[in-house]
Amino acid sequence: MTLGPIGKVWFVGAGPGDPELITLKGQKLLAQAGAVLFAGSLVDRAATLYAPPGCVIRDSKDMTLEEMTAWLIEQTRAHATVVRLQTGDPGLYGALIEMARPLSAEGIEWAVVPGVSSAMASMAAAGESMTLPEVTQSVIFTRVEGRTPMPEGEDLAGLAAHRTTLCIFLSITLMYKVEAALRAAGWPEDAPMLVVHKASWPGEEKILRGTLADIKQRCREAGVASQAMIVASPTLGALHWETLVRSKLYDPTFTHRFRKASA
Ligand code: SAH
Repeated sequence: MTLGPIGKVWFVGAGPGDPELITLKGQKLLAQAGAVLFAGSLVDRAATLYAPPGCVIRDSKDMTLEEMTAWLIEQTRAHATVVRLQTGDPGLYGALIEMARPLSAEGIEWAVVPGVSSAMASMAAAGESMTLPEVTQSVIFTRVEGRTPMPEGEDLAGLAAHRTTLCIFLSITLMYKVEAALRAAGWPEDAPMLVVHKASWPGEEKILRGTLADIKQRCREAGVASQAMIVASPTLGALHWETLVRSKLYDPTFTHRFRKASA
């Protein structure tokens, strides 16, 4: 007789690094987990702080995808709650579907708990907003081509032509490509740029501000060559602008469902 699977696999977003930026739901699941597989490269091991004594904890940094899914499947035979802990949000550059398919094929239940993406944490660290009225109302999460090819129609120069907020993942070692793309899209040399290294990591976060012309140099000077978010956005630095279009929602002359205009 073979025993069927008993456990469920939870893909939990660990958040960007600060162990306090995991969701309550993620923390609760960790607290009842029998096994946790965590992404060693970026998830602060501290996130596994929440796992109970006796929990099987494994770093996935030296494992292939096949090994990871085999490990998760094996753990569901022994534990009701198995957690795959991923950096930021599991649905962004997280191989979520690749890992979930073999689970579904085995009839193993799985679910996702979202996490605070490093894009959000980076903007928060810098005290910046992704959107501003009449400046930009859209955000693009993207990357430049490294060993993973970019699908047709998604080259950064084309996306940058929209002049929206661009959160560029996985590209800090390819800053020259980011710069070339922004220039090709007509962004001026003084366009503000932001690089955040290890956003939210206690004691390790670095916030670098510069322009299209000098951001690469700033990264070099600061020794930032990994684990960083690049943001190019027309909203950057708005705290110090002389004029700012107000949000309609909070404008005293604007009536909406919950408030009548006062003037
Ligand atoms: N799922 C993750 C992204 C994984 S891809 C998320 O939602 O954030 C890995 C890339 O994310 C890194 O190359 C870097 O660009 C970014 N990243 C992850 N954690 C980061 C952090 N704490 N600070 C800055 N960038 C981070």
